Amino acid sequence: MYAKVIVDISASSVDRIFEYRIPARLEADVRIGSCVHVPFGQGNRQRSAYVVEICEEPEFDPEKIKDILSCDDGSLGVQSQLIVLAKWIRENYGGTMNQALKTVLPVKQKIRPQEKKTILCLLDQDALEAAIREAERKKYRARLRLLTEFRLARAIPLEIARTQLHISDSSLEPLLEDGTIRMEKETVIRGSCGAGQDTGKKPVLNEEQALAVSDFRAEYDAGIRGTRLICGVTGSGKTEVYMELMDHVLSQGKQVILLIPEISLTYQTVMRFYRRFGDRIAILNSRLSAGERYDQWMRAQKGEVSIMIGPRSALFAPFDRLGLIIIDEEHENAYKSENVPRYHARETAEARARLSGACVVLGSATPSMESFFRAESGKYSLSRLTGRAVPGSVLPQTEIVDMREELAGGNRSIFSRTLHRHIETALKSGEQVMLFINRRGYAGFISCRSCGKPLHCPHCDVSLTLHGKKRLVCHYCGYETELPQTCPACGSRYLAGFGTGTQKLAWMTEKEFPGARILRMDADTTRKKGSLEEILEQFSEHEADILIGTQMIVKGHDFPAVTVMGIMAADMSLNTPDYRSSERTFSLITQAAGRAGRGEKPGHVVIQTYMPDHYAVQTAAAQDYDAFYRAEIAYRRISGYPPVCAMMEIRFQSPDEVAVIRMAEGTAELLRRGVEKSLESVAKRGEDPAEYGIEIIGPADAPVYRVKDVYRKMLYIKGMKYDILLKIRNYALKMAQKLPDAGKVAVSCDTDV
Ligand code: ADP
Ligand code: ZN
Ligand code: ZN
Repeated sequence: MYAKVIVDISASSVDRIFEYRIPARLEADVRIGSCVHVPFGQGNRQRSAYVVEICEEPEFDPEKIKDILSCDDGSLGVQSQLIVLAKWIRENYGGTMNQALKTVLPVKQKIRPQEKKTILCLLDQDALEAAIREAERKKYRARLRLLTEFRLARAIPLEIARTQLHISDSSLEPLLEDGTIRMEKETVIRGSCGAGQDTGKKPVLNEEQALAVSDFRAEYDAGIRGTRLICGVTGSGKTEVYMELMDHVLSQGKQVILLIPEISLTYQTVMRFYRRFGDRIAILNSRLSAGERYDQWMRAQKGEVSIMIGPRSALFAPFDRLGLIIIDEEHENAYKSENVPRYHARETAEARARLSGACVVLGSATPSMESFFRAESGKYSLSRLTGRAVPGSVLPQTEIVDMREELAGGNRSIFSRTLHRHIETALKSGEQVMLFINRRGYAGFISCRSCGKPLHCPHCDVSLTLHGKKRLVCHYCGYETELPQTCPACGSRYLAGFGTGTQKLAWMTEKEFPGARILRMDADTTRKKGSLEEILEQFSEHEADILIGTQMIVKGHDFPAVTVMGIMAADMSLNTPDYRSSERTFSLITQAAGRAGRGEKPGHVVIQTYMPDHYAVQTAAAQDYDAFYRAEIAYRRISGYPPVCAMMEIRFQSPDEVAVIRMAEGTAELLRRGVEKSLESVAKRGEDPAEYGIEIIGPADAPVYRVKDVYRKMLYIKGMKYDILLKIRNYALKMAQKLPDAGKVAVSCDTDV
């Protein structure tokens, strides 16, 4: 037997993998993740190394391969655990061991030694308030952000001020000079109980929150390490519950990873955790440089912090006493990696938790079908929060407006009369409005304003996109046509695009409500560093009346003065051609609706749609997750889609179209034959092959067949048993490599399609 090892993870990139022989006496001990000792280099100096792969055939000349000297026994440390996790990732999601290792292990970066500094506020309460008023008057925005934060916390780590509050050194200088603040080195700002500074201010949990916490504790203290789903309506106090769970786990000397989608990782959220847990927190986000990331990693590894907060990649924080992984907004697409290995954070978190003896908590107002399915079938424990947490705050009233009727009634504006009325009332009484426009399937999308039908490509099941003023293009097959004069379905002349989305909506809103101050938040207006926070802050300080935006505005922001949420075209995302489109639509409408009425005044949500009867629209309007789930799971059952079964995808890509087709068809054929044979032997054993429910679908063109002159074909495998599908997939990958075009076509796979 031979072992592939990496020598000293922290010192080098993981690119260099070395091969050693496993002597017979060590065969029982050496496993993936084991720390072994090997003779290294010319002088055969003894070095320690980690085993990343074990194989029977060496790649190098066996004559030249050296023997492993010894193997550490005992339990696996955190490095070893992460290597085993990399192996799990590779087995489940494909790719190479190298790609998997790079995903889980930090690659060393040169970093400037950084002093940890803390900003202390030297003003007393009255002086602080006076300084805040002055900053307001003089419009010193950065200073205002910092001073306002001092109301809640008198000491703020410099790093958080920089990365979360966007305070530059130049705005700190005058404050240092006039004695408003002082810089401290290495200040530890922990309260007596080891928590943050304002533990006294935490709210008393309501009954449902308290139950979620005590159920978790009971399981945790009994040593049960499973997954718990917290299904709680927007604003039900999930975050408050997370903090209690974290407290419990931290108090037992364990560490916590909290995943939050990047888009929701605003300073509002971060400061909430910081105020509670002080500097035991490390925060990751994609804006950190590689060196800063590495620095956070090292802080985790040295045990300087015990909470890692961040998006997907925070999952690999090198904690060796990990007790809990929380995934907030677990339904978010962002938890699935788009790059190889295409891992999903939820499943990977469970794999990591199993290795470290930790448990997993998932939270959402609109759990993914997968998670709720597992909760229903008893694989996950379930906690529910059914009402809003702030006393007196209720879920907003929702109204569905059928836009076809609006036109029939003579209204050609994109504002229904109902929405118009609510906006006017809100503006008059000094309240705020949010308008949400779904970008997906929206830009340049043309539909008939009388019958609501979108213009479809005659060859595909997707809608056409307007290019320029007159040309309609199918992005999936390349079909092109002129924009027709009348609707092909009903003959109406009112064919209209919704233009480029937010920009056009902002312009129309301006015309419709002259004098209203409008802010726009989308990919364009938030490209610049810090501009997202800037917009959010302007809106929360009521410097604008109407916030217009895409998905970005519906994620987790809390604006108490918003009383009206207009969902401009709720069904746009129903037109995307995949089986998750209803789920996505339901979740978007629900999250959007949840933004209104979070303060004392009740909220109104207006859902404008051409499909008022669609169950995703209806159940979202009623904020009824259970009703949606029942309808959707029935559909998945009938059509044979996950989570009722498992589904995997094999992708073939090449600039050579003929080779792609040959390869995809060849693989499908070999696979069908192989599967048929194994099912025959299953039948011979007296089992029913139908129970495996195995289906091989395709090959078919990818939803976007050609991208940058690369052709893409897909093969889908469905079945009832995940493990068996994995085997079938691996068999397919192996068969593909034997085909004559193997050298020309890239083959990859995706596990949870
Ligand atoms: P979610 O994460 O479910 O959207 P949050 O935890 O953000 O909900 O809570 C929403 C609001 O309710 C926050 O302003 C929070 O401070 C407040 N809140 C949470 N729990 C309570 C409680 N038990 N009593 C009073 N207010 C609460
Ligand atoms: Zn087409
Ligand atoms: Zn029509």
